[in-house]
Amino acid sequence: MISVAEAVQIVRQHAKPLGTEKVDLPSALGRVLAQEVVADSDLPPFNRSQMDGYAVRAADTTNAPVSLRIVGESAAGKGWHQQMNAGEAVRIMTGAPVPAGADSVQQVELTHELKDGTVVELLAAVETGKSIVKRGDEITAGEIILRPGVTINAAMMAVLAAFGYAQVEVAKRPRVAVAATGSELVSVDQQPGQDQIRDSNNYSISACAELAGAVVQRLPPTRDETSLLKRQIAEAAGNFDVVVTSGGVSMGVYDVTKNALKELDAEIFFERVALRPGKPIVFARLPSGALFFGLPGNPVSVSVTFNLFTRTALLTMQGANEPVLKQETVVLARSVKGTMDRESYLPAQLMTNDDGELIAFPLKWGGSSDFVSFALTTALAIIPAGVKTVEAGSLVKAIRLP
Ligand code: AMP
Ligand code: MG
Repeated sequence: MISVAEAVQIVRQHAKPLGTEKVDLPSALGRVLAQEVVADSDLPPFNRSQMDGYAVRAADTTNAPVSLRIVGESAAGKGWHQQMNAGEAVRIMTGAPVPAGADSVQQVELTHELKDGTVVELLAAVETGKSIVKRGDEITAGEIILRPGVTINAAMMAVLAAFGYAQVEVAKRPRVAVAATGSELVSVDQQPGQDQIRDSNNYSISACAELAGAVVQRLPPTRDETSLLKRQIAEAAGNFDVVVTSGGVSMGVYDVTKNALKELDAEIFFERVALRPGKPIVFARLPSGALFFGLPGNPVSVSVTFNLFTRTALLTMQGANEPVLKQETVVLARSVKGTMDRESYLPAQLMTNDDGELIAFPLKWGGSSDFVSFALTTALAIIPAGVKTVEAGSLVKAIRLP
């Protein structure tokens, strides 16, 4: 049995980048960036006013209150492009260029303009540079703003737009087929009969895969028969980069996933990991080159194994620079039990207390099938193998679920 860390290493080694493609900016959200993003201009591109008010020379205002002659108006998109002289002021709006000759902007609240618009009284002095952002202060043309490997978020969309990236080079999305195995399973739109349950894993796995950037195809559940499963996997392998199944990987008589893989001549990289929940987990490569993940059937094990292994593969295939979920240090809110031979990943809720400490509240949890309480989980608290009990107040590592 290999450790979680070893299994993650094996996954990273076999997941190969899928290449890149150009997409229109609106489609870039959530994709992994595959190019450098370079500023094509200074930001701001001109000395910009941060306030509505009056552009002035600071030296003219030292003995405020003082009256200055209004010689023009500079609005956003329509500046005043003449020279402003001593004793003068230019009415100015937020986002407008500061005219040559002015060195500060007094906010409108500290001014009083005469009715005829010819003179403004400054009620207070203003320091040099006040309320002006100088050309290039934020970004200089040619600066690298974003590097390949980051997942494009909403704020980055604005950056891309600001520098003219109408199209963006991004990683290709892995195509993932998701199937469930189990003779007890029916689809969500069916009424379960005697001894049956609805296939819920299909939806959690598909959701996790989409959050990891994949394009997902859901396949109908398959009965526990080697020949049926074999046919379904073989068909999917030809059309997808990754095939994910759940169920049928334990030691039971009807756990046929590994039989199907062997008959398909798959190369199995691992089939047991020292992990709780989720010890039986198969990672393999099919002859077509498609990667295969046989996750356990228990819904909580599905989420744990997906986020540790399948997600890592999907992000590695997209060239993401952080394919593995980051571990953070948290304080355990109550004592929990570990397992002698396995690392435990315990569903927990994370909260920050008044001292800014991250507290993990392990869920009251019946076992790895308790997926209703798992719906409230935001993180997994990690208890190392060989630790009998971890007391309340102890520091442990945790990963946040995406
Ligand atoms: P297995 O790994 O096939 O032994 O399944 C372990 C447990 O998970 C059993 O109680 C199954 O009924 C349940 N299970 C397996 N597949 C699914 C699924 N797709 N949706 C919901 N529960 C499942
Ligand atoms: Mg089963």
